[in-house]
Amino acid sequence: MKAKLIDGKAIAATMRRSLRTGAAAFAKRAGRPPALAVMLAGEDPASQIYVRNKIAACAETGIKSLEYFLPKNVSERELADLIDALNEDGTVDGILVQLPLPKGLDSHRVLGRIKPEKDVDGFSAVNAGNLFLGNETLTACTASGCIELIRSTGVSIEGKHAVVVGRSNIVGKPVAMLLLGNNATVTVCHSKTRGLAKFTRQADILVCAVGKREFVTGDMIKPGAVVIDVGMNRVDGKLYGDVEFSSACEAAGFITPVPGGVGPMTITMLLYNCLQAARRNNI
Ligand code: NDP
Repeated sequence: MKAKLIDGKAIAATMRRSLRTGAAAFAKRAGRPPALAVMLAGEDPASQIYVRNKIAACAETGIKSLEYFLPKNVSERELADLIDALNEDGTVDGILVQLPLPKGLDSHRVLGRIKPEKDVDGFSAVNAGNLFLGNETLTACTASGCIELIRSTGVSIEGKHAVVVGRSNIVGKPVAMLLLGNNATVTVCHSKTRGLAKFTRQADILVCAVGKREFVTGDMIKPGAVVIDVGMNRVDGKLYGDVEFSSACEAAGFITPVPGGVGPMTITMLLYNCLQAARRNNI
């Protein structure tokens, strides 16, 4: 194997230690810990695991979590009223609504109800717009986690050709904007891109957020590239990335594993956003 492994678990653990110190300092100053409200509507098993992991991560870093487990038939009105109350509660710094919402609920409307200052997922139009404008904002967690992982390699982003495969609002687009903000030359590919490999082979930095098991293979990777695999594809209980790890390792200079790469960083950046929101909301 040629590629060096980017150890997302270890990088996340180091960040969480420093977030714990930050949260303790905030608590001393504000007389209360930073607080994150987590809402889950319905009983989707994967969502339950994600929410449990987020709550555990809050506990690990000294962030108070307020948990709202709502039935799958909760109305949009009830959700909106709860969000309104949390928006007005000065002791709540971040609000997170776990997606997907049960059928019949409009996630855009629900997420849009969260005050931008408390939108720790960074999904609201205001926060996405601020990212687009290059303003300081609460940034989508997976995207900012990718940037931290690239930085950890010591490879400078500036001047590099970064190729992002995938253009979703929660990963592809925000990661492309962050790379652009870091002065990379950015190409965004998607399902209608013709001759994908022609683009990926030019990438000094390659971010794959497609949602297809082992979709990008070693022959599609420029020798020495930094490869960030966002994909989480569960097949027969096993987790696979969007990148074929074995062949990619032969070409890449650095690569994230799945699991243990981007995943641990996503929750860590959520905690980071929560602490940022707490600091900004309590000046
Ligand atoms: P989406 O399904 O929202 O987006 C997938 C993107 O891939 C789309 O932009 C789509 O293009 C593009 N795409 C699909 N097929 C092709 C193709 N043949 N060639 C090029 N591009 C293609 O997924 P997400 O962005 O939400 O997630 C992507 C992956 O990342 C998933 O595996 C998800 O589980 C994982 N994920 C992991 C996280 C983590 O913490 N590790 C967090 C979030 C997601 P088009 O727009 O044209 O349809």
